Amino acid sequence: MSRLSSLASFVRVLPLVLAACVGSVGCTAELDGDEHDHGDDIEEGDTSTESALTPGYGVPASLGLNKNRKIYLTFDDGPSAAYTNKILDTLKAHRAPATFFVTGKNIAGQETVLRREAAEGHIVANHQWEHVKATETQLRSWAPKERDLLDEIAGTQPHYFRYPYGAGTAAKEGILKQAGYVDGGIGWDIDTLDWCFSKTGTCNRDEVKAAYRSDFVGWVVSECKRRGGGVVLFHDVQGITQRNLDRIMTELEAEGFEFANLPTSGR
Ligand SMILES: [Zn+2]
Repeated sequence: MSRLSSLASFVRVLPLVLAACVGSVGCTAELDGDEHDHGDDIEEGDTSTESALTPGYGVPASLGLNKNRKIYLTFDDGPSAAYTNKILDTLKAHRAPATFFVTGKNIAGQETVLRREAAEGHIVANHQWEHVKATETQLRSWAPKERDLLDEIAGTQPHYFRYPYGAGTAAKEGILKQAGYVDGGIGWDIDTLDWCFSKTGTCNRDEVKAAYRSDFVGWVVSECKRRGGGVVLFHDVQGITQRNLDRIMTELEAEGFEFANLPTSGR
């Protein structure tokens, strides 16, 4: 890409990103990295400006979300044979909805879990077929492929998509919209960093204050309080999330937060 066209695309994307990113942790957060079943471990942040300005990080304004004391739980990278059913049990106990962004390659053999997610009022959404930074060609093939498979298994409506690692671009947004993902990529406001805490129970990243570096629950609750609500990124392939979800939800409820889900109409 020439310097000029690179600049042009930067300028084109900038207002959109600024609109989506005002005060958003997601915009400065690093990659949606995680240690999960299929072994890619790209957690060390790509903090380049270009990456931070891609469309996959923020929560699109088209969703019209009310984030005032509302928490929108999202779980990526599943389904997980070990954890997803237990997470569903916890959500049921709290009568809370969530969105599961499913990795296509993890679906085979786990169809029952996806049916349960849908039957219990959750949204079953697309987290791309393979957990990679896809090329446009890959995305053009994968976006409808997983959409159709999820529809077949779970009768999934609405259609939502989240890029692995938040790796969106303006061109990929066009591909998603053609595949019926009218909002483009769905990012997040609050990154729990569950993959980081999962290794040893401690996460020493700069954005985690010292008081919370060995306190996953305290960190997540403090971030929700700091932001006042929004879309929260967890991973249902992380045991630390499954083990602590009930405590996190109980503490958030005690703080006056309510759990809500993304819109279900028009998508
Ligand atoms: Zn992911």
